[in-house]
Amino acid sequence: MNNGIQDRRSFASSLRYGADYMERCRKALDDAVLSTRGYESWRALDPGPACDVFLRLAALPALTKADLREHGPEGFVQRGRDVATGLAAREIELVQTSGSTGDRVTNVWYQPWWDASEEASWRLNAHASAAAVGEHSEAILTSPWCTGFPCEDDYLAMHQRTMGRFLYLSERSDPSTWSVELMDRMAAELNAFKPVVIEANPSFLAKLSRHIVACRLRVPSPELIILTYENPSILHRRQIERAFDSPIASSYGSTEAGYVFMECEAGRMHQVTESCHVDFLPFAVGHGGPDVGRILVTTFNNPWRSLVRFDVGDVVRLNASAACPCGRDEGLILASIEGRTIALTLTPEGSAVTQSAVDRALSGVDGLIEYQLVQSGPAACHLFLAAEDAVRRSVEGSTREALRGIYGESAAISTELVEAIAPEPPGKYKLAKAMELVDCDSLLDGRYAPREL
Ligand SMILES: [Zn+2]
Repeated sequence: MNNGIQDRRSFASSLRYGADYMERCRKALDDAVLSTRGYESWRALDPGPACDVFLRLAALPALTKADLREHGPEGFVQRGRDVATGLAAREIELVQTSGSTGDRVTNVWYQPWWDASEEASWRLNAHASAAAVGEHSEAILTSPWCTGFPCEDDYLAMHQRTMGRFLYLSERSDPSTWSVELMDRMAAELNAFKPVVIEANPSFLAKLSRHIVACRLRVPSPELIILTYENPSILHRRQIERAFDSPIASSYGSTEAGYVFMECEAGRMHQVTESCHVDFLPFAVGHGGPDVGRILVTTFNNPWRSLVRFDVGDVVRLNASAACPCGRDEGLILASIEGRTIALTLTPEGSAVTQSAVDRALSGVDGLIEYQLVQSGPAACHLFLAAEDAVRRSVEGSTREALRGIYGESAAISTELVEAIAPEPPGKYKLAKAMELVDCDSLLDGRYAPREL
């Protein structure tokens, strides 16, 4: 048997979906693979429309950013559409993303699709459903290079950072250099603007939150805080909770794939089944499998960009019991996003360690403010850490102990106290990284691994 149907499994086959979900998957697959140029080389691997759609997907490769670059925006536009015409009619725009790995991709940006995907994600969280009615005021605290008005050498007045119902709280992209005056200004603007929702990089809002608590400033708590752009550290989240009484929800997606998962009020991540399909590829036992693995995203209803099995470059962990206390039961339900594949590290024995595993271990260290773990060699890790003044030395020892619990006694673990951790361009914190990237394909349970062309 070599057509790929019987030698690959689909995790999706074990999940529950709504009535028309399979049809959305089938349409997305047919629209892409049967009619767009970017998937021409995949057609020989596709078992065809008569086959179960999940098994068809499982028989295909993964779509990479390199594929998006190779075929360009035109390669993923559905039949009957033309990028130049869409641009001229202002129906679409072209936006560049600089991914975390530094690889730039030109994306076709189709606002109605993005908005529909965002709205679908809100329905997966009761607080978001109640607060985000589309007209709400929103304060945004992210890197201004990702969204907003960047200005690194001067300051902008509040009206220069306001656009309709959105207030961009910072024009500066590096929180480690924010001045006391800048953070005082942010707190004052929250009092004046009284946002219904705050949307923020967790690391950015954590920095402001530490300032609010330390200086005993008073700020209003919005109806909801949405964390985006970064996988939130437990430490950052805890610091935000000290400054705000609001419910917090983490939203997960990407410029390419739209909104993919939303945290419900019970703290699990639910797949946005209205706008995408997610294939879960478990790691082998010994690397965290079968509950930990990678994800590939197939998008629905975007005539300007058909993505099938797009490798978003993240690792996730399944919810241990299939049910979530919130009652939502469709699609993939996660206990957590475990971090970027490029943030994977290895024990001296070669077992994979996710960024969130590191985070969970370090979250128990009292007095630790923030950190960055760097795997500097096959059995060596270096931890940069910022700690509360009174306990700086004991925190160093406690972090080493916590990391030994993950990497084992034979790992060489060193620590270095720093004043603050700076984000990397364009403004995202890296909680963990390896000097030599882990070969992610080698971690997979082979029965679920993507086909190769
Ligand atoms: Zn839930």
